[in-house]
Amino acid sequence: MAAGEEEGARTGTGTESEAAVEELRSFKDLGVTDVLCEACDQLGWKVPTKIQVEAIPVALQGRDVIGLAETGSGKTGAFALPILQALLETPQRLFALVLTPTRELAFQISEQFEALGSSIGVQTTVIVGGIDTMSQSLALAKKPHVIIATPGRLVDHLENTKGFNLRALKFLVMDEADRILNMDFETEVDKILKVIPRDRKTFLFSATMTKKVQKLQRAALKNPVKCAVSSKYQTVEKLQQYYIFIPSKFKDSYLVYILNELAGNSFMIFCSTCNNTQRTALLLRNLGFTAIPLHGQMSQNKRLGSLNKFKAKARSILLATDVASRGLDIPHVDVVINFDIPTHSKDYIHRVGRTARAGRSGKSITFVTQYDVELFQRIEHLIGKKLPAFPMQEEEVMMLTERVAEAQRIARMELREQGEKKRSRNDDDDTEEAIGVRNKVAGGKKKKRKTF
Ligand code: AMP
Repeated sequence: MAAGEEEGARTGTGTESEAAVEELRSFKDLGVTDVLCEACDQLGWKVPTKIQVEAIPVALQGRDVIGLAETGSGKTGAFALPILQALLETPQRLFALVLTPTRELAFQISEQFEALGSSIGVQTTVIVGGIDTMSQSLALAKKPHVIIATPGRLVDHLENTKGFNLRALKFLVMDEADRILNMDFETEVDKILKVIPRDRKTFLFSATMTKKVQKLQRAALKNPVKCAVSSKYQTVEKLQQYYIFIPSKFKDSYLVYILNELAGNSFMIFCSTCNNTQRTALLLRNLGFTAIPLHGQMSQNKRLGSLNKFKAKARSILLATDVASRGLDIPHVDVVINFDIPTHSKDYIHRVGRTARAGRSGKSITFVTQYDVELFQRIEHLIGKKLPAFPMQEEEVMMLTERVAEAQRIARMELREQGEKKRSRNDDDDTEEAIGVRNKVAGGKKKKRKTF
């Protein structure tokens, strides 16, 4: 049968999958081998998640899989377990390749492979931009079992690293395929598909089935089985969603008020630009909060550093652009604040999906100013409900304005100083923006990627 001609019939709805979860209580029931069941147990994975119930049995049967699932659903386990099981059966180097859109995701996926595969000695390598290519070439020379890569840097190695090829590859995973394609990685993905064997298993995971994803599916998958686990734009029940309607000029004061009101929680605050993320982090620090920024204009090391400090709970507030709104596995976020309202309503779902994970409860608060009413209405329309207002004491907020104004002044000064230092050191050459520019200078046809 021609590639992608027919699609398997196993499209699970939420309810069907729930029934399946009832029926299949363990990884063993799904056909996972004992040593990997033990690994799941050690990670505290008692029962498989819905996407795992749907995808693992068909993947173990050797079928290609399209998984419609988002980060947080357990999809990494859904593709990692069948790959590790196949690796156990026929050990081989350069066995699997996982393509993913961002560096952070790549590291997370590699951590899960290593955690699940530690007892069977699996070796993984992460190949992403912003990191020295020489050390990556050395890691590739050791021929790891699994490579987790962003497409751009992998193509660099395929073209320039002597002795490295993927001609024996058995598994290809395209994780968050919709994002890979939206980030203009289409050419790179095509190049990769051309140099790996056609005779392989392919898993394609995507939060949404866009036209581009369908095209990729037709080009890359053979007779795949579709596994979908939740209806599209749902937010979980244990998430309490609120909005506040406030004048734009008092946003900072309201933010400080809410952080004080909900003190003791961990917060993820979303801003629309790198600059506002940095500014707000400085502002909050000036007011004594343990806040840390995460955005695309920081170096790779700084981004990982921020994320790790937040994950280790050394910082209680992570300020991020949408680069962090999807994909990052940050299990303990109690409150998500949309400080700047998302311009794309779908980003709302991804942002608030950072809290109320794995059965825990969580809150989200969206700031709506006089300029954001229409965007907010679109969000309410998308999620199909009217949100309640978060209760506030306006007088108490106003009492904060003076202190906040002083902190704003200092933050602006610090931001200016940081900008000047950066310009004089010219040390920001590993930002995504600079990489994009470098690619251009190097004569590549790549478009400059947006930095968020
Ligand atoms: P993912 O969607 O793959 O990014 O996974 C999100 C989180 O769910 C990760 O922290 C995983 O460790 C966790 N996870 C995956 N599968 C299970 C499971 N069966 N039970 C509990 N947690 C899981």
